[in-house]
Amino acid sequence: MNATHDSPDHGHDNPPLPLEQALARILTALEPITGSRQLALRSALGQVLAEPVIATEAVPAHDNSAMDGYAIADGSEDGQPLRLVGSAFAGHPYTGTLRPGECVRIMTGGVVPAGAGAVAMQEHVQTREDTVHVAPWPKPGENIRRAGEDLAEGAVILDAGRRLSAADLGVIASTGQAEIRVRRPPRVAFFSTGDELRSLGQPLEAGEIYDSNRYTLHGMLQHLGVDCLDGGVVRDDPSALQAALDEAAGQADVILTSGGVSVGEADYLGDILRRHGEAHFWSVAMKPGRPLTFGRYGPAWYFGLPGNPVSAMATFTQVVTPALRQLAGEHPSPAHRFRVPCLDALHKKPGRLEFQRGVMVPQSEGSMAVRGTGRQGSGVLSSMSEANCFIVLPADSGDVAAGEWVTVEPFGRPLL
Ligand code: AMP
Ligand code: MG
Repeated sequence: MNATHDSPDHGHDNPPLPLEQALARILTALEPITGSRQLALRSALGQVLAEPVIATEAVPAHDNSAMDGYAIADGSEDGQPLRLVGSAFAGHPYTGTLRPGECVRIMTGGVVPAGAGAVAMQEHVQTREDTVHVAPWPKPGENIRRAGEDLAEGAVILDAGRRLSAADLGVIASTGQAEIRVRRPPRVAFFSTGDELRSLGQPLEAGEIYDSNRYTLHGMLQHLGVDCLDGGVVRDDPSALQAALDEAAGQADVILTSGGVSVGEADYLGDILRRHGEAHFWSVAMKPGRPLTFGRYGPAWYFGLPGNPVSAMATFTQVVTPALRQLAGEHPSPAHRFRVPCLDALHKKPGRLEFQRGVMVPQSEGSMAVRGTGRQGSGVLSSMSEANCFIVLPADSGDVAAGEWVTVEPFGRPLL
């Protein structure tokens, strides 16, 4: 598809692709990877269901009491004194059948005995020896949680393609299932490129910097539940880069690199991809992060992210994240975006879609607003750490005045 081996502009899209088009090309090209495994429920948080989960039994399995109180026999008269014949505590049911005029002491979660029609909360009850007086009298069915009220027996409770949340694990546990089948997660090999980069623990010589991209990328990959292979720092050297790509392609479904894709610098990765791989596009019209390669290398998909730390994170969230979700077999779900007033004036030149860093702040009346993080340079990684959202500014928009409404995209999706 649109390989650019012979492209006259030598590996740079002119003009860069709009983000939606880049995403559409990626999502058309990628098929979910195959393979699944059986996992203990507790290990499955953040994994993607390979098959639907069915409620093997109704939850709750029995009618039970929503209150501490007294279960009253059907057919008793409103206001009549009741004879206390036993108790139904959680885990210790009353095994008899109530006859009109009878009641049992019942606790929250206790099974409602046969013959009972309602539960009176204990605050509405006075007892004298074995006689119970109820006022006000409960309505039929009051304070009874019905069998199957949470999950009906046989119902599909979670669809295949669902990324499991903590609540999902609990729902599955409530049906008694200890193991579930999840998809094999994508395997992602990633490495940083650049002669100036040092790994942590090494001293810095003049002009050198520490490799931070491997930490941000590793963190974001972990949040996506993929298997990560860290290939370290690779020098700006054609044979070293090719060897690193070959090794990654032998192990992973996806290769992710950062750096070495800017126009002007020795474009070794681009050359290698043109000769030994395939590129579907080279740049996306977003800021930060214009240079961004998507293609294939051997059997693996390839994403070449820009080296600038903020650009690497922004392109990962906008492009790599949806791609990995699709590869993982997850149901597509758009990023959550909404409109809030912006407390600061923001500078923006019309032309590219921008992802500025913002901090959403609660307002006194309970609504939300956003402020900018100040310096928006693509090398200012601390702006990502300070921010809790992107402020998404459309390509054609210009400066934002304080008080104007803007679109925000919160970071992260808490898997409650
Ligand atoms: P490049 O895309 O290789 O031209 O890199 C663009 C900018 O990002 C340069 O200032 C690099 O030093 C910086 N950079 C590239 N890779 C990393 C990395 N892994 N960690 C931190 N900064 C990086
Ligand atoms: Mg570089």
